[in-house]
Amino acid sequence: MKTKILLIIILGLVLVGFTACDEIVLDTSADDIQLSAGHFSIAQTPDEIEYTPEDPDETYEPEEPEEEEDDRIMYIPIPPMPLPPPPPPPPRYRIALTFDDGPSQYTSYILDVLEQHESKATFFVLGNRVKSRADIIRRMAELGNEVAGHSWNHRNFANLGADAIRQQISDTSAAIYYVLGEQPPPFFRPPYGIVNNRIRNVATELGYSIVNWSVDPKDWQNRDADIIYDIVIDRAVDGAIILLHDIRPYTKEAIERIVPSLIEKGFQLVTVSELLDYLFDEVALGGVYTGLRR
Ligand code: ZN
Repeated sequence: MKTKILLIIILGLVLVGFTACDEIVLDTSADDIQLSAGHFSIAQTPDEIEYTPEDPDETYEPEEPEEEEDDRIMYIPIPPMPLPPPPPPPPRYRIALTFDDGPSQYTSYILDVLEQHESKATFFVLGNRVKSRADIIRRMAELGNEVAGHSWNHRNFANLGADAIRQQISDTSAAIYYVLGEQPPPFFRPPYGIVNNRIRNVATELGYSIVNWSVDPKDWQNRDADIIYDIVIDRAVDGAIILLHDIRPYTKEAIERIVPSLIEKGFQLVTVSELLDYLFDEVALGGVYTGLRR
């Protein structure tokens, strides 16, 4: 009997326990695994999970990011184009180079230098050299230079009568006309630059003015290209007329430096006609023009 009563009590206790357990929960989201059923739970803490500790000696190497495929257009940087050189400044001054007593064997070289620098000059030629050097005379004109008379054979006009002076001027102009097909400009330069009333009267009568110079480097005397160069560059001013001779080897040597240096200093190398236009409103017949000097 006692045994029966004990079994009933045990059975009753078991039934009460099961009715109290109304839910069973398995939580897998937590670090520990927890099985809970009502008031009861079985837990496994992180300490109990097996894991391999990281090797402390192993250096950390971050994974290299995968290279993305670049489907953009390849860009190759192009170095900037060098800027073109600035244009030369406009010339501020005008100057006239004049060459007397030619043409000669040096004249072509002087023409080359002028052409190379897009510059012009005036050649006061001797009438008796014009026809025999017609090609050079024509090239002077073709390049825009001016061809004017300097007498027929370099006689000193001061020692000549009016008729002889007239002949010297007219014959030279006729020779230039013969070669170029056009009259020379309405001025001439007397040999040695000598001017007197008789010469001026003949000039007026024939329709000419007289053109001398403002700068004389004495290239017939200074047989040194450096001296000729220095004098011209030192005395070059706006409106100057420079006296040179294209029959002198040192002049030929000096001119290849004179022309670019004058341009660099802001001079435009013009003909005598252009310079007279620049300096004067009117050019008088028989008038003597020397250009401006410092
Ligand atoms: Zn002369």
